[in-house]
Amino acid sequence: ATFEQLKLNAALLQGLEALQYTTPTPIQEQAIPLLLQGHDVAGQAETGSGKTAAFGLPLLQSINPELQQVQALVVVPTRELAVQVRQELKQYARFIPNLKISAFYGGHSFRIEETSLEHPPQVLVGTPGRLTDHLSRRTLHLSKTTKVVLDEADKLLEMGFEEELDRLMGALPRKRQTILFSATMEENVKQLIADSLQDPKFIQA
Ligand code: AMP
Repeated sequence: ATFEQLKLNAALLQGLEALQYTTPTPIQEQAIPLLLQGHDVAGQAETGSGKTAAFGLPLLQSINPELQQVQALVVVPTRELAVQVRQELKQYARFIPNLKISAFYGGHSFRIEETSLEHPPQVLVGTPGRLTDHLSRRTLHLSKTTKVVLDEADKLLEMGFEEELDRLMGALPRKRQTILFSATMEENVKQLIADSLQDPKFIQA
């Protein structure tokens, strides 16, 4: 298949062309149509499979750049991944005007993040501890956030972020699209899927 056949919009296709991505990876071929249809998706995929674009492209296609609201939240286990995912999403979104993508994580300046929320990004990538800090301080509101990604879910649980995940999920609207990626599907990941996703489609690279 081609990215055109997956029904991505012209701006995203232009971004992919600039990056010289010619062919979707297997996980992208499976995830993109399901996500554009609005399904919750649980994917088993390793780093290197192209999972970031698999969830990122449909996410970016669903954003309304005219609205300054956090419309999509991507939760990742580490600051390195937060920075990397933001960078990758920015590249895909290069030809979408007025789109703001921010990364919040431990060790980053709280003040800078707070200021950034005065004109909220449409897409926010962050680590669980820092995101729940913002919830506690009421600097972050997730009532308009109808897309959420739990990336590297096995690692999120392994690092002990269960409580933070509970709080984040509780702050999100019940009616939302939830996407989870994990390298492994152990019992604790399955439990998180059961607790957080609705009627998910399961895919595997
Ligand atoms: P990820 O699994 O998301 O960490 O992606 C692994 C690497 O593959 C990243 O550096 C992406 O930029 C790259 N990549 C993702 N999708 C494609 C694609 N369809 N064609 C070529 N490179 C890709």
